Amino acid sequence: VYDCIIIGAGPGGLQAAIYLGRYNRKVLLLDRSGGRTRHARRIENFLTHRAISGQEIIDRGMEQARSHNVLLENKRVDSLQKDVLFTVMTADSVYRSRYVIVSSGVYDNFPPIKNIFPFLGESYITCLDCDGYKTTDKRIVVIGDNLQSVNIALAMKQLFTRDITYIPYRFSLPDAAEEVLEDEGIQLITVEPVNIIGNEKMEAIELRSGEHVPCEAIMASFGTKLNDEFLSGLNLKKDSGDFKYVVNASCESSLRGLYIVGPLNTGQDQVVIAAGEGAIAAIDINKRLLEEKDAGEGE
Ligand SMILES: Cc1cc2nc3c(=O)[nH]c(=O)nc-3n(C[C@H](O)[C@H](O)[C@H](O)COP(=O)(O)OP(=O)(O)OC[C@H]3O[C@@H](n4cnc5c(N)ncnc54)[C@H](O)[C@@H]3O)c2cc1C
Repeated sequence: VYDCIIIGAGPGGLQAAIYLGRYNRKVLLLDRSGGRTRHARRIENFLTHRAISGQEIIDRGMEQARSHNVLLENKRVDSLQKDVLFTVMTADSVYRSRYVIVSSGVYDNFPPIKNIFPFLGESYITCLDCDGYKTTDKRIVVIGDNLQSVNIALAMKQLFTRDITYIPYRFSLPDAAEEVLEDEGIQLITVEPVNIIGNEKMEAIELRSGEHVPCEAIMASFGTKLNDEFLSGLNLKKDSGDFKYVVNASCESSLRGLYIVGPLNTGQDQVVIAAGEGAIAAIDINKRLLEEKDAGEGE
């Protein structure tokens, strides 16, 4: 029986693993590989690093966790159940633990526009807090399939650049939103984009009409989905939109002993925040393990 099983080796899971490993707890970290942090090619807002790739954060984090005797296994978790202990199942194994930290992250929805991936994380960006700064004084296009993308265009103008074209993707814009964009001097195009033009540098976005709209960067808002299939059946409390998990100040979910960190919960989606939440969860779990030992439980 493990003290804690951590699901997902992104910044949230790795930071938790490092803390728990340094309490000499028995920790298993299960990770199926992939993950959103690896898409972040140049992270510039992480303390002590002017720029670091997400891949490097993960590689260093794994090495650090292993150095504290955390057992890392490359496996996908298929289901999670709880009676007295937690039971975590993969395709070929069953594990038991007193606590579980879920840090399996989210993934981006991508529109069927050609040539996105060579630019992802550099000039095709999906997060204002992460990469908005990189568009300062650039010519950009904002696209999205929801009304929230209009607010993003307005925020980008206030913070980073005046040269913005906005393209609603497969949804019709209310008149009021059109008026606000016009008042703000943001150009509106309602023809669907189909392709991104450029090799190393982004040059333009191509519309279905064949027209090219010149741009140096694209800010895209198509939302995310959660990597949480293995949580179905636990009936955990979610937010009012029935999307993200509600947790308390220690990142514990509505199920006792199950912690959820990173963008799966209702907090912000940032590397440093996922890592901070991993630390909070680990400290709390360690305290509870100490209390249980004092009370004679968990023997
Ligand atoms: C292009 C891009 C750029 C970004 N830039 C920045 C930036 O500059 N600064 C910043 O702070 N943030 C940035 N972010 C956001 C950042 O990537 C996230 O905040 C961060 O990844 C959250 O970490 P996490 O540990 O929750 O999840 P992740 O890094 O997504 O890790 C989750 C892990 O869980 C694993 N997993 C999922 N399901 C299972 C399962 N069933 N079983 C086992 N393992 C599983 C995955 O394989 C993955 O390894 C960026 C994101 C993107 C996409």
